[in-house]
Amino acid sequence: MKKRNDYSYSALNIYDSICHKQYYFEYLDPYASHWENKKRIKQVQTEAGRRKELIFGGIIHDVLTDFFHLPQDKRNLDSIKEILKSRWSGPRGAKRGFPDIETEREQYQKALKMLKGFVGKTNLAPQIAYLPKPKKKADEFVKENYFKVDIGDGLLLTGIIDRIDKETEGYHLIDYKTGKEKRKENDFQLMVYAILARGALGMPLAKASYFYPKNAKFVTFTPTPETEDKTIKKIKETIDAIRKDEEFEPDPSKMCYYCDFVELCPAKEEARKYIADFKGEKDDLPF
Ligand code: SF4
Repeated sequence: MKKRNDYSYSALNIYDSICHKQYYFEYLDPYASHWENKKRIKQVQTEAGRRKELIFGGIIHDVLTDFFHLPQDKRNLDSIKEILKSRWSGPRGAKRGFPDIETEREQYQKALKMLKGFVGKTNLAPQIAYLPKPKKKADEFVKENYFKVDIGDGLLLTGIIDRIDKETEGYHLIDYKTGKEKRKENDFQLMVYAILARGALGMPLAKASYFYPKNAKFVTFTPTPETEDKTIKKIKETIDAIRKDEEFEPDPSKMCYYCDFVELCPAKEEARKYIADFKGEKDDLPF
């Protein structure tokens, strides 16, 4: 089996909170984790319409990055609409990640509405301390945006940061969220980013927030040396559990809706039942 030393928040979260088997397929399975096969597997998911929220979220992240790269006096509704249009150009429908053209139009309208809300309610001129490099195309991997931080024991914590502002209290990390606002937020993701911000950029955080562009709402946590120690302990416990796992048992739940590997899963019959039930009630998106 493949041995990994680098772990992202997303990998840890899949193993810890979603499903051990999904983690196995995504990162360890010799067939499913190979990038060429993964591309084919994800296309099945696209055509079933279960990747549209992910594609939508990716586009909004790229638009917001491009927008904050503009000079302050150019940041307005017209410019963000232009950026959205250019980020949305390219192949249509299933080739783009939407099951059909109607769904794609619906998602575009949703994006416009979200960005209008964002421009009307947000400080468009924050003092930005860190912003990722813009991507030339949607699926480009920009090496400089991908951080790796040594957390000891030969392990690397990896990830991408959306934005860090410099405010009067200090550095404020902002993680964009494009799904529906959650009733109960979990600070683990932000605490992982706090380790990345300090380790990779030398920016110890005063605050870390999830940011919902549609309502310009921040949900903020305060990282401290204690939360950092606790987070590193939790990360290492999860990695230890992954390394000792020999079975990677499937754990069917409504999260199967977003899993790319349903067709390969030994619990696919149960997973399909969850997917059918979940189709009508997607108001608790995990991103
Ligand atoms: S389909 Fe469900 S149970 Fe199977 S790997 Fe994916 S998340 Fe796990």
